[in-house]
Amino acid sequence: MAAAEVSAKVQDAICSNVDQIKDEMISFLQDLVRVPTVNPPGENYIAGAELIGNQLKKFGYETDYIAAEGMKEHTVAHPRVNVFGRMKGSVARPSLHFNGHFDVVPVGDGWTRDPFAAVIEDGKMYGRGVSDQKAGIAASIYAIEAVRRAGLKLRGTVEQSGSVDEESGGFAGVAYLAKQGWLGKDKNDYVIITEPTDTSHIYLGHRGVYWFKVTTHGRIAHGSMPHLGVSAIDHLTDFLHGVTHDLKPKLATRKTAVPVQPPKSRYASINVNSVFGGQPEEGTQSPCVADRSGAIFDRRFLTEESFDQVKGEVVEMLEGFKAANPEFKYTMEDLMIVHPVHTDESCDLVQTLGGCIEQVAGKKATYAASPGTYDQKHVVRIANVAQCVAYGPGLLSQAHLPDEYCVIDDIIASAKVMALTAVQLLGIE
Ligand SMILES: [Zn+2]
Repeated sequence: MAAAEVSAKVQDAICSNVDQIKDEMISFLQDLVRVPTVNPPGENYIAGAELIGNQLKKFGYETDYIAAEGMKEHTVAHPRVNVFGRMKGSVARPSLHFNGHFDVVPVGDGWTRDPFAAVIEDGKMYGRGVSDQKAGIAASIYAIEAVRRAGLKLRGTVEQSGSVDEESGGFAGVAYLAKQGWLGKDKNDYVIITEPTDTSHIYLGHRGVYWFKVTTHGRIAHGSMPHLGVSAIDHLTDFLHGVTHDLKPKLATRKTAVPVQPPKSRYASINVNSVFGGQPEEGTQSPCVADRSGAIFDRRFLTEESFDQVKGEVVEMLEGFKAANPEFKYTMEDLMIVHPVHTDESCDLVQTLGGCIEQVAGKKATYAASPGTYDQKHVVRIANVAQCVAYGPGLLSQAHLPDEYCVIDDIIASAKVMALTAVQLLGIE
């Protein structure tokens, strides 16, 4: 499907309608920031979902609330509720879906302003979650509303979802929506996740993640006669030495062709999350050879690496130690596997969005990929929608910081980009 031709006059009308409703958009965003949807633990999700849902309903969407029934994180104390809005066009396809997560990370220290007051100073709105990513939700809702206020009707279908738990993996959020069939390639052609991408970047995807635990096993003995035992800590030390001095340098030579930001994250990497073993440090000590030790690792991998290769080289190292020392015993456990995703930059969604960014911002859009992951993995891997990117107002560098803010002009610019993208992808009657 190619983007529809939309006259310059129509595009101007849409942009001036965004300018006309900006005060409404900003006041809706303030209301949203004032609902402290903090995750963990997942507070006020129903209030957050309803605020978004009521606005969507007012703007002509059919709305549904989707509680993550059957998920262990969906509890009476902290229900996981997502909101979904659909505005049907005269044709079901193409269909463009905007998704934004409305959970925010905890406040943390160092704020000089009330994190939930949504105060505006010098053209910036301050608050937890303004950039990451409630401004994106406001921008996409008002982008489509500006099209409607311009007296235009989209030909294809627009959907908007507000989802939960992105900050903790998105399993009761976008993953749940995808598994339950709310999102899927049989319904959706394009998905824009409205995460903060500095207004002129398009995030095409993210690297892969492999969290794993290695436990080494030894034999307990009296600490005064360690030769009678086998130290699991010695085994772990050997392995950690291998990780630091063999694996890390090898990974540092593998560079992806994908434009991951920051550029130093274009290399494969591994980090040790935690190390354990022997007696608890706070307990009374007794003279014992440690019979159990281990560590948890965070391996970030590239589109160019296969998961089998990533895991295989760790297993190979461990097997090497075992071959050299018959007493070397270990177990290995996968904790989390996220495959990398990368949307082809030549697709309609990226090209159309990029053109609209250039039109509004007056500069070329930049393609980027994220060093960490976000909900795109669920859209691509579970819903199987190939054309999915992240684009939205707000600075990624502001995410999770004290005094988090978003520049108001960026929200307006993003809303224009989203509105123009929608009319070009979906066409107008
Ligand atoms: Zn986010």
